[in-house]
Amino acid sequence: MRTIETVIVGGGQAGLAMGRCLTDRGRDYVVLERGRVGERWRSERWDSLRLLTPNWMSRLPGHSYRGPEPDGFMAKGEVADYLTAYARSFAAPLEEGTTVLSAARDGAGWRVETDRGGWRARNLVVATGNCDVPRVPEAASGLAAGVQQVTTKTYRNSEALPEGGVLIVGASATGAQLADELHRAGRDVVLAVGRHNRLPRSYRGRDIMWWLDRMGILDRSIDDLRDPEDGRREPSLQLVGAAERRPLDLGSLAARGVRLAGRLIGASGSTVRFDDGLGERLAGADEKLFALLERVDRYAAAHGLDDRLPAPSRPRSVTLPDSGPEELNLAAAGIRSVLWATGFRRTYPWLPAEALDERGEIRQRHGRGAQPGLYVLGLQFMTRRRSSFIDGVGRDAEELAGAIDRRHAALAA
Ligand SMILES: Cc1cc2nc3c(=O)[nH]c(=O)nc-3n(C[C@H](O)[C@H](O)[C@H](O)COP(=O)(O)OP(=O)(O)OC[C@H]3O[C@@H](n4cnc5c(N)ncnc54)[C@H](O)[C@@H]3O)c2cc1C
Repeated sequence: MRTIETVIVGGGQAGLAMGRCLTDRGRDYVVLERGRVGERWRSERWDSLRLLTPNWMSRLPGHSYRGPEPDGFMAKGEVADYLTAYARSFAAPLEEGTTVLSAARDGAGWRVETDRGGWRARNLVVATGNCDVPRVPEAASGLAAGVQQVTTKTYRNSEALPEGGVLIVGASATGAQLADELHRAGRDVVLAVGRHNRLPRSYRGRDIMWWLDRMGILDRSIDDLRDPEDGRREPSLQLVGAAERRPLDLGSLAARGVRLAGRLIGASGSTVRFDDGLGERLAGADEKLFALLERVDRYAAAHGLDDRLPAPSRPRSVTLPDSGPEELNLAAAGIRSVLWATGFRRTYPWLPAEALDERGEIRQRHGRGAQPGLYVLGLQFMTRRRSSFIDGVGRDAEELAGAIDRRHAALAA
């Protein structure tokens, strides 16, 4: 059993950002990672994935993108390399290939068991990721055994799917990106559309992320939301990081031949059913988008940017000739696989039950857990909208490192 001040679980951007902040404060810690640094980018994501945030938006404490394409979008392997370089830049004390199996309160601190020995620590920082386990709806269990089901964690590329059409469930960033990819690969694609956030790649000559960053929209605090759950349930941004900066809206996907349907509400054998909310959802996403673009225009005018930027021009509303099918027989439509792009949940089987709420999420406020010395990082809208982004986790890490410092001072007093 080794003793250390802080154990950080997870060697992704969150765990490393936390490590860097503790290094800067001269604190003693170890990062335990079950795979390699940036493991999710190496083994849990599809082949063609690129960041949807521009490279300049990869700022981490003490580290930023210095490559030749600040406005480009790193491929997933480049993200893993970027994180590896980050870990090296401050000689992060890392134990890769080490899985945390359990953590329990131990006096004023924690006792952490791994498959490679135990640790005693005052603080435990959970940085195991917001996108942990695919969330697959109940309906999946009703599908005929002959339909191949994949999630965004297991999908790699079009060739790895059985021949034929594909039903993609979920039209946020991932579902829309993969509908685009599979349709370009010559597949018939049906896309079941739930709540989504439509965004243009660029607006008035600037990447949309530049606007969201500059206008402080990504800094919106969880404390400013009437219901914090709204923030945690916010759909991802319907964007793709591609060199030609193409938009990824459902209107252009539909115009190219992707068939849109409502939200999937049931499945029995070969038949799936959709709700009738497609039109309403498309209109709702457009309404939100146009409100955002008006806000951008007001910001541009107020900050003297109008003369330097192209004039405003609105993307077209997404309108469809019909409200989508109510029902679809997959076999008759030649669809042999279903891709669940329905988001993620988190599991912490190694944490004590009292650390978790009734849904299995860590009880926390601003990353401080319910037990002394327990912290969490990288959750969606944990403190601010950008908390789970590469470009946002650093500020949370700095604040939590400050909290750890204060806890040590208090325990030492
Ligand atoms: C498809 C997709 C695309 C995304 N694109 C972007 C983007 O363009 N820009 C952006 O800013 N964000 C993006 N994100 C969001 C976010 O940046 C990523 O989810 C990122 O991986 C989160 O980093 P993290 O360090 O919080 O968690 P993770 O990367 O999930 O890291 C957690 C680490 O913990 C390890 N771990 C888990 N359990 C244990 C255990 N018991 N013991 C030891 N180790 C453990 C895992 O192996 C993993 O390496 C994307 C997310 C997804 C899913």
